[in-house]
Amino acid sequence: MSDDCLFCKIVNGDIPSNKVYEDELCYAFRDIDPQAPTHILVVPRTHIASCADLTEANAALVAHIFTVIAKIARDEGLDSGYRVVSNVGPDGGQSVPHLHFHILGGRALSGRMG
Ligand code: 5GP
Ligand code: ZN
Repeated sequence: MSDDCLFCKIVNGDIPSNKVYEDELCYAFRDIDPQAPTHILVVPRTHIASCADLTEANAALVAHIFTVIAKIARDEGLDSGYRVVSNVGPDGGQSVPHLHFHILGGRALSGRMG
């Protein structure tokens, strides 16, 4: 837990969120400012700042999160596809420095990636 981290506070229940899924390793909740009909954030329970901070020690955690993303997408009925995004640092547009994966879907998304 990082004391000043918004997503650590959400994971710990100190700040309310609209939970979609949780297990011992990760927590998923609806984005407060959705950019698509379905917009869900999946975060590790442990504080990792971003993809840039991942090491081999986190490999199983990240693999697990991607299986959770696939399960959530199935449960949300995103049968015609979706996008998974993780912004990194200022140029990547990351606004919350706790690793998170956006799941965006529910409509055909813009072809532009940047
Ligand atoms: P980033 O810009 O770091 O890639 O994504 C951060 C995301 O967190 C944004 O899409 C933003 O809308 C979302 N967000 C920021 N604060 C909160 C909050 O308090 N609750 C929820 N559910 N989402 C938040
Ligand atoms: Zn955190």
